[in-house]
Amino acid sequence: VIDLSAVLDSPELVKRNLVERKFPLDPAKIDELRTLASRLAETKKEVERLRAQRNTLAAQMKGDPEAREKGKEVKRELQAVEPRVAELAHEMQEIALQLPNMSHPDVPVGAEDQARIVKLLGPDLGAGEPRAEPERDHLTLSSPSNLAWTDFAASAFTTGSSWPLLTNEAALLELALTNYAMSVALSHGFKPVLTPDVVRSEVSARCGFRPRDDEAQQTYFLSDGTETSALCLAGTAEIPLVGMSGSQTFLEQELPRKHVAIGRAFRAEAGARGADSRGLYRVHQFSKVEMVVVCAEEESDALLEELRAVQEEILSGLGLSLRVLDMPTQELGASAHRKYDIEAWMPGRGKWGELSSASNCTDYQSRRLGIRYRPASRKHFHPDSPSPSSSSASLAHSPPSSGRKLAYAHTLNGTAAAIPRLIVALLENGAVFEADGKKVARVRLPAVLRPFWLGKGTDERIE
Ligand code: AMP
Repeated sequence: VIDLSAVLDSPELVKRNLVERKFPLDPAKIDELRTLASRLAETKKEVERLRAQRNTLAAQMKGDPEAREKGKEVKRELQAVEPRVAELAHEMQEIALQLPNMSHPDVPVGAEDQARIVKLLGPDLGAGEPRAEPERDHLTLSSPSNLAWTDFAASAFTTGSSWPLLTNEAALLELALTNYAMSVALSHGFKPVLTPDVVRSEVSARCGFRPRDDEAQQTYFLSDGTETSALCLAGTAEIPLVGMSGSQTFLEQELPRKHVAIGRAFRAEAGARGADSRGLYRVHQFSKVEMVVVCAEEESDALLEELRAVQEEILSGLGLSLRVLDMPTQELGASAHRKYDIEAWMPGRGKWGELSSASNCTDYQSRRLGIRYRPASRKHFHPDSPSPSSSSASLAHSPPSSGRKLAYAHTLNGTAAAIPRLIVALLENGAVFEADGKKVARVRLPAVLRPFWLGKGTDERIE
């Protein structure tokens, strides 16, 4: 399933990719893969040789006791060697599944601070560093004694910290933002889906989220009370949206498939601390509108730009000061080949804060989930004609088509709206204070939300 040509042909490039992404996989695993690959090739040759010998001996066996004895010996040898082929292939697959995608050659190398600013959008913040306004901290503005938009204490009683309640206009704001983002995505041809928030752990891992045995994983695994089940809470609706194309073969004419879902995202956020986990900025559960595209391979670069354009439209419509970033190698996770983030200026935090991501995962997810298409006859795609793997067959619900060469699709994902951080940005930028400069009198919200505002009669504090 996994394309090992880069590992076999340019191992140094693959190792450099691991280092540049600071990916938690020992580069020595690449050498191990190569050793296993040559062992597999030798074992296959040995099996072929023994089979040929067996066939020759079978023809000589009649009336030749020596040939019969020799034939038995060859059969025994074959029985010992044949299972090694599947075993070696399995060992290779286990390592190959842990490899990250290769980075796009234009991606900046390094950590978050190496992100390349692609453009600025929205109201101009003037030259130099924008001014921090600590009095606009969203947590202070939204507290029960001020706007009463959040109640962290009440939800800490019920669930725990960082599982906030959204109250009053904030609850309505979530609904308005969700429907606004959906409406923009629908206008760009995305089809609406409501996905389950519980997914199979294996599908989550194959989408590039860290598997259960990884210490740094961010996933909540479900348990039936006695042992961990095969299910987990989705970290993002990307997982069920990509999963819905799993083990399927499309005609190229049916691509791109574009879907948008409303989901709850669950994040363990182990190790998150400090200002970046304050208030609504980093929580364990949040509502998110997510877009996913499945397309032909040569279209994914252009579709990443299209996803970004949809995000720019949604976020510019909210009147925020934005910057679009081409994210560096260490920010790409396992699955992304290239990723754009959009950040908004959040004056209370005194920082830019990430609102959305758009990633081109090329064939990383489709190879792991068996998402293929039959190229239109004018084209010739991959030299390899993939066959269903035993492991992806366990996830299968449709058989592969036979005949002409199939190709692996490319998948992309992009945030249409991640609600809590949108609330942070809108509140910190839009709060209008009473004369005391502390109590919030009103919140200026963008006009695009008006058609989606349900709170008739409860909106006197909304402008
Ligand atoms: P990701 O799927 O990690 O790329 O996240 C998509 C968007 O969700 C980010 O751009 C953030 O706006 C938002 N987000 C991610 N993690 C959290 C979190 N723990 N709490 C609140 N919002 C989050």
